[in-house]
Amino acid sequence: MSSGKIEISGINKFYGDVHAVRSVDLTIEAGSYCCFLGPSGCGKSTLLRLIAGHETPDSGEMFIDGQSILNTPARDRPTAMMFQSYALFPHLTCIDNIAFSERMHGIDKATRHKNAREILEVVEMSDYADRLPSQLSGGQRQRIALARALITKPKVLLLDEPLSALDENLRVKMRNELKSVQKLFGITFVHVTHTNTEAIATSDKVIVMGDGVVDQEGTPYEIFNHPSSAYTARFMGGHNVLVSQEGHSGQLRLAIGEGQLIDVSKYLTKKQNGLVVAKSYALRRDLCWLEDIKGNKMSAGVENFKSEVDTIEYEGASFKVTLTSGHPEKIIVRISDVDFYKAQFSEGQTVRCCFKIKNLCPLS
Ligand code: ADP
Ligand code: MG
Repeated sequence: MSSGKIEISGINKFYGDVHAVRSVDLTIEAGSYCCFLGPSGCGKSTLLRLIAGHETPDSGEMFIDGQSILNTPARDRPTAMMFQSYALFPHLTCIDNIAFSERMHGIDKATRHKNAREILEVVEMSDYADRLPSQLSGGQRQRIALARALITKPKVLLLDEPLSALDENLRVKMRNELKSVQKLFGITFVHVTHTNTEAIATSDKVIVMGDGVVDQEGTPYEIFNHPSSAYTARFMGGHNVLVSQEGHSGQLRLAIGEGQLIDVSKYLTKKQNGLVVAKSYALRRDLCWLEDIKGNKMSAGVENFKSEVDTIEYEGASFKVTLTSGHPEKIIVRISDVDFYKAQFSEGQTVRCCFKIKNLCPLS
């Protein structure tokens, strides 16, 4: 059975006047991969350090596998931390870096080197056992740091921005490897990142944080496809946020631009897709499409508005087309390269932007 279930309840942390973590309640399942995702300064590292025991909360409770850990010093918690800087001992070889904690526990050299070699194999670094950290690349150093954390047999591995020092290709490779290692060991990983693609690719559960609070938690699919707030929709990217205006007598309109509104009141009935009233709606950029202004026959459940193409950005497999409409931010349509080359839109062109009402995701 997996272990390493984390339960956090009513945790608060102040640094002077800064309320870094605000009444956070969370459950992280045993043996799962969880990401804390949010912009710089939103309290991710603080929450991670609270779990590790490197910080003490001002109030609240924390449990691992049902045991309160707040009175347990960091070194006695069933957790290990992997830092962004890796923090390897520069004067020790890779194998001795990994064997360090067992040396501190008085384990004989033959045994600890045998154990370290086993972990070196897992992280595919067996050939580098006798090198010093300065003789390794960034990615290799990270593997050694991972091995050094795993050898302590933690129930929970805490990783603070583990991939941020690597270049893009290596980041993608390493995030897959982290996920494989997590599965292999069956322990809980808590990974802090400000990169939404990293969180989506690795996690069983994503915790979106903003200003010391948990804004939304869920599977990557739920967070991306059903953001519950405009904050999460904007942070996850890939969405337009359409602000609505509620008029009198059950009227609902979407603000598309200055003075440009789409009346969607008729969809508020169950018969017509059952749109629910919300302050704003997320609309995936890749689920909008552009048409020529001449053709204006729309299928049922499809709405459209006229706009001008502001800018076009090539992204490889797709094009990012920014329109001049949108309030408060400009509406973006992501079009596959195949579709784009067929239609050949250009900057300054007037187009019709279309979307299905059923793809509007209500936000709080
Ligand atoms: P994140 O990891 O999401 O970037 P942090 O948890 O590091 O955010 O920081 C959250 C807030 O707490 C920030 O406003 C930061 O300036 C503040 N903070 C973090 N650590 C300390 C500290 N040791 N002393 C004072 N303020 C801190
Ligand atoms: Mg941080």
